[in-house]
Amino acid sequence: EERTNDAELKSEELRAAKEALEEKARELMISSKYKTEFLANMSHELRTPLNSILLLSEMFIDDTNHGLTSEQVEFMKMIHSSGQDLLDLINDILDLSKVEVGKLEIHFEEVNLCEFTDSLEQSFMQFAKKKNLEFTVSSSVDIPYLIFTDEKRLRQMLKNLLSNAFKFTEEGSVSVKLEEAGSHEVPQFHHTNAWLKVVVADTGIGIPAEKQEEIFEAFQQVDGATMRKYGGTGLGLSITKEFAQLLGGVCKVESEEGKGSSFTLLIPSLPEGLPEKGKETIHA
Ligand code: ADP
Repeated sequence: EERTNDAELKSEELRAAKEALEEKARELMISSKYKTEFLANMSHELRTPLNSILLLSEMFIDDTNHGLTSEQVEFMKMIHSSGQDLLDLINDILDLSKVEVGKLEIHFEEVNLCEFTDSLEQSFMQFAKKKNLEFTVSSSVDIPYLIFTDEKRLRQMLKNLLSNAFKFTEEGSVSVKLEEAGSHEVPQFHHTNAWLKVVVADTGIGIPAEKQEEIFEAFQQVDGATMRKYGGTGLGLSITKEFAQLLGGVCKVESEEGKGSSFTLLIPSLPEGLPEKGKETIHA
């Protein structure tokens, strides 16, 4: 008699606990949906005025004389670059929150790797010159000429890795190497699908072993002191890791303190499971 009562009580308790859990899950889902909607609206509202700040300040920093003193032109440049930083931050936060709720759109398309690396080299040459670092972009002959991936996201990943490489390196070199990944290196090897391996290496400050995992989490930086010294938001690597996964690949790091770091991206040259002529947009 007592036992049956006990069992009944227990099952009652369990049911209540299950209901409470379900309620919590519902609340969480709603709040994360609100959060994403809020972030989406917010970033739209912020982007509009920011864009006019950017456009207007840009008008005053070309070579034409607008009647501004050179000091005023310098201020305009500062306004422009702070505005750009803010816009990048807003875009990063929005991207990450979209990834979180599975709403980030991935557009697979043909990417010409020659053109891609040329433009990458062009846009980062100035950083190398500014800091007097050697900078090389090289491709091994066996890499595919065309790959099928999301060019915009690939560019964003490399921009993040390269900005870090230049930020954390004071002397020596920064290099980008493209090659075909070996079958032992990639998560799922399929003989029809070559994998691209991109290695971004630097001779900078390096990353302590115990931090090499957590730097891929949002807002994680090696230490507070680093943050004050180098600035940044701690979002770049988490975005890079998430994007790599959305493209079917991975991002990893090898590093030694005081010697330098090397970040490796492994990306399939065709998205996994894509039908032969599946050139349509895929919503991740
Ligand atoms: P941010 O660069 O904005 O701080 P990231 O997510 O890109 O954010 O990087 C997180 C942290 O990882 C950096 O703050 C830095 O401590 C460390 N890190 C990333 N790349 C490098 C690198 N190439 N060399 C040394 N440390 C790095």
